[in-house]
Amino acid sequence: MNAPAPSVQPRNALSGRRALVTGSTSGIGLGIARALAAKGADVVLNGFGDRHGIQRIQDEIAAAFGVRVGHSDADLSQPAAIGLMFDELQATGSGRLDILVNNAGIQHVAPIVAFPPAKWDQILALNLSAAFHTMRLAIPLMRQGGYGRIVNIASAHGLVASPFKAAYVAAKHGLIGLTKTAALETAAEPITCNAICPGYVFTPLVEQQIEDQARAHGIAREAVIRDILLAQQPNKRFATVEEIGAFTVFLCGAEAASITGAALAVDGGWTAH
Ligand code: NAD
Repeated sequence: MNAPAPSVQPRNALSGRRALVTGSTSGIGLGIARALAAKGADVVLNGFGDRHGIQRIQDEIAAAFGVRVGHSDADLSQPAAIGLMFDELQATGSGRLDILVNNAGIQHVAPIVAFPPAKWDQILALNLSAAFHTMRLAIPLMRQGGYGRIVNIASAHGLVASPFKAAYVAAKHGLIGLTKTAALETAAEPITCNAICPGYVFTPLVEQQIEDQARAHGIAREAVIRDILLAQQPNKRFATVEEIGAFTVFLCGAEAASITGAALAVDGGWTAH
């Protein structure tokens, strides 16, 4: 009798790997960190929140999947804080870094003429420059460990624009350019770098946008979801953090070795228009 074909993603496919997921105390980042841990990777969380709440998340993931779960509260809009986070990363756990997910991001919605310059700087610093700084420090560690997977969480707004999101759209387009450059610089090595471009995913960031738009237009939440947010998204549903987590896991595995420099849409057909 033939042996059963190996599953594409064994349960421990990422065992022995160590991942840093930025902005992972909430939303998509937390979903990705959980999905990587479920495949056996040690994870370092990053992001803000109540210290006890974050500790509970760390304990819960560690107990569920038998992996080590650290946390850094570094403010990634500050290059010096990113440097300190990497010093700590190298001094703790195995010291290695195999997987980097650049996910931390914020949004601000306003027309260009009314866009606060300080918001522009803050969004560019977090949504774009932070990924440069983490990659600058992570690639040497990946080279040292002989394996690297970089996944940058861009957006459908990295591929197409919408009005009133100047900083976000500019940063996400830039992040895709940065992704392609890193992919070319590491292409001959066992390192890949890709961008995931989600459409709307239901998270606290989107919840905030629903409330803001409902207030701005004086309409009900349901109308904001149907007529504004999902108006662009042909499949008319929010993606889930579990879907983005599963796709990230695939990109971080051995099977995705030939996928690099790609901007991969997970947007229900948004950018097919
Ligand atoms: P979220 O608001 O739920 O989570 C953001 C995370 O980033 C939190 O953990 C927060 O603490 C952390 N964070 C915020 N500022 C930080 C800083 N200065 N330093 C370090 N950490 C910081 O957001 P989300 O919806 O999960 O979005 C995550 C990423 O996905 C963002 O880059 C966003 O642009 C992108 N994205 C989201 C959607 C969506 O529909 N939710 C769609 C496309 C792309």
